Amino acid sequence: MEELAALIRARKEAIFARIAAAAERSGRRPDSVALMAAVKTRSAEEVAATVRAGVGFIGENRVQEGLAHLQGLDGWHRERMRLHFIGRLQANKARKALSSFASIDSVDGPDLARRLSRLADEEEIVRSVMLEVNLGEEDQKGGVPPGEAEALARLVLDQEGLLLTGLMGIPPFAQDPEAGRPHFRTLARLFSRIRSLHLDPDQFVFLSMGMSHDFEVAVEEGATLVRIGSALYGPRRSS
Ligand SMILES: *Cc1c(COP(=O)(O)O)cnc(C)c1O
Repeated sequence: MEELAALIRARKEAIFARIAAAAERSGRRPDSVALMAAVKTRSAEEVAATVRAGVGFIGENRVQEGLAHLQGLDGWHRERMRLHFIGRLQANKARKALSSFASIDSVDGPDLARRLSRLADEEEIVRSVMLEVNLGEEDQKGGVPPGEAEALARLVLDQEGLLLTGLMGIPPFAQDPEAGRPHFRTLARLFSRIRSLHLDPDQFVFLSMGMSHDFEVAVEEGATLVRIGSALYGPRRSS
C-alpha cells in the first residue's frame, strides 16, 4: 500500500518539476500552480494513496463515485483532501453533489446555477463553484460557450449560497498539445474579465486548465490548477 503512495508521490514530483519549468518560462512563480488528481475509474485505495502522497485536490466526475471515495476514507484522509466535482452534473444529482463535494467545478448554465443556489440556501451552506467553459463548443462536452460565460458569471455572482471561485475548461482533443494554446488563452482572458466583475477578486483564484498531455502549455498560459489523471496513475481504465 505504501508503495502505491510512494509511486504516486514520485510521479507527482516529476509533474511538479515540469510545472515549475513551464511557470518559469512564462515568468510565473512555480508555487502559483496547484495540482488536482483526476480520479475517475480509480479505486478507493488509489485515492487514499494520492492523499498520503500529498495531493489534496481530488477531482471526480461522478457523484456516486465521489461519495464512495469519501465513505472509504477515514478522518485523517478526509481532513487532507478537498473533493471537487468535475463531471457533468445532472439536475437530479445536484443536491447530493452539493452536500458531499467541497466545490462544483462544472456549472454550465443558468438552470443549474439557480438550482444549486436554491439547494445551498435550503441546506444553509455557501458552496464554492466554478464555471466550465466549452472552449471548442463541442456537442459532446459540457460547459457554457465562451461567448456566454460572462453572462453566466454575472448570474452566478448574484446567487446566494454560491461563491464563484474560478473557471475550468478543456480544449478539443488534439495529439499536439500546442493546439490547445489558443483555447487556453481564451479561457485566461475570460478569467481576468470575470475577475474584474467579482466583488471579492481574492476569492476568484482557480484557472483550471491543462491535463496530462497539455498541462505545460496551460501553465505557460496562466493555469493555476492543472487536472492530472493518467500521468499520475498510468493509462485510464475504462469505466
Ligand atoms: C479525466 C479528466 C482529467 C484528466 O485527464 P488525463 O488526460 O488522464 O490527465 C481532467 N479533467 C477532467 C474533467 C477529466 O474528466
